[in-house]
Amino acid sequence: MSYQALAEKYLVGSDELYEDRNPASPSQVLARFRLSGAQDAKGAIERAKAGFEAWSSLPAPKRGVILMKAGELMESRSQEMAMLLTLEEGKTLADSSAEVSRAFNLFKFYGALAFKSGGVTLPSADASTRIMTVREPLGVVAAITPWNFPIAIPAWKTAPALAAGNSVILKPASKTPLIALMMLDVLVQAGLPKDALGVVVGKGSTVGDVIAASDDIAALSFTGSTAIGEHIYRKLGGKKRMTRIQLELGGKNAVYVEKTADLTLAADLVVRSAFGLTGQSCTATSRVIVDREVKEDFRNKLVERVRKWKVGSGTAPDVNMGPLVDESQYAKTLEYIDSGKSEGAALVYASEIGVPKEGYFIGPNIFEQVTKDMRIFREEIFGPVLSMTESASEDEAIDLVNAVDYGHTAGIVSRNHHVINRFIDEVEAGVIKVNKPTVGLELQAPFGGFKGSGATTWKEMGEEALEFYSREKTVYMGY
Ligand code: NAD
Repeated sequence: MSYQALAEKYLVGSDELYEDRNPASPSQVLARFRLSGAQDAKGAIERAKAGFEAWSSLPAPKRGVILMKAGELMESRSQEMAMLLTLEEGKTLADSSAEVSRAFNLFKFYGALAFKSGGVTLPSADASTRIMTVREPLGVVAAITPWNFPIAIPAWKTAPALAAGNSVILKPASKTPLIALMMLDVLVQAGLPKDALGVVVGKGSTVGDVIAASDDIAALSFTGSTAIGEHIYRKLGGKKRMTRIQLELGGKNAVYVEKTADLTLAADLVVRSAFGLTGQSCTATSRVIVDREVKEDFRNKLVERVRKWKVGSGTAPDVNMGPLVDESQYAKTLEYIDSGKSEGAALVYASEIGVPKEGYFIGPNIFEQVTKDMRIFREEIFGPVLSMTESASEDEAIDLVNAVDYGHTAGIVSRNHHVINRFIDEVEAGVIKVNKPTVGLELQAPFGGFKGSGATTWKEMGEEALEFYSREKTVYMGY
């Protein structure tokens, strides 16, 4: 099926005409379609209410079989899906393939869990009495997702939501809707009943607002920027019915390169986490706190590696990073580079050699002498810009890691057991990586940010995700 046919098959839109373009070659239009407006979103919610009846009444193991089959079909279509992901979002084909694998494994994982998820049995203080809990779906749940992991994030919300028996409204980012539609196409092919999943593509400020404000949405899982997450959180306050909410938001992740660190390992991990995916990852390393004693050596190793880093279209075989997703991300990143310079940080590496002129390409940029009052230290850039700040002690390093409003992911590279354990105890972040890249999460482990990086209400992924998408009923049974 062509990309245009995919859009026409699944989208209902009466709002303005939209062109989905390739960021590596913006003159290439992948598909043209009308965005959904407020009425279209309301219609999708009505269809999902009807879809809930059929899907929730299907026994959980039968739902599981459909989800596992979707995982298998997605695996068989993974090359086609990875190519679309690269053309639409810009990341390299290797990164797209890894993301598609994540997505099909999520469907297999939650499909299998649908066979065994349930409640618990507890002893009672009364004779001839059994206490048990049963898990039930919530109804229609909504997922609002960003463009940077345009199939993994829809999959890690949709798969557990469907496994638990809910129907789902998915609103992917308008920058990357086609890959979400291909995921829907696979689910339909696997036997997902009509309207168990509806994909709505439209402006966040219209369809996103309708979804967040709807009393028919029992739970809303949002991943995106902290500003929009906070806007949604405030909006929920005025509703008749309480909506269960999960918010996964921005990050400003730091790695502490401690003085006993293996500096070769540290440089490898930081380059991969800062510049892989063009820095457009919520788990990207955007700050390094480096011990004064090893600063020179570490910086030299970092620059040596970045020099070999190839920037180009994600479809080329040997590139390390693709373009920024669109013109606005491109302009925002350049603005932060200017801000770093004007606030007095030293730009020790700025890649221009070999960076293509057409498309939204910016190579790796490394600043040092960054202080904690600078915008490039505090604000999420979401582009290939790394800030280095020197520390004189482990106390100072931990303070610097914690000195931002975010608390998504943090890393330490060290051989000192004591410092590593202090870091685990004292750093305020939802994920801690020790001698590992800040990027890369495994689907079986729970995940969610602290402070401005999340609402800390419910975790995503792992078995824990099923808790968000279901409610627990307690039964006291005398016999
Ligand atoms: P964004 O906040 O601009 O948009 C996210 C989604 O919200 C999109 O689908 C958008 O259309 C929608 N939206 C916009 N306005 C809305 C409104 N008023 N009501 C409801 N929905 C609305 O984020 P983005 O630019 O798509 O993605 C980048 C951001 O996502 C970064 O901040 C990044 O850190 C974050 N992110 C977080 C995680 C995580 O797990 N914590 C993962 C990936 C990305």
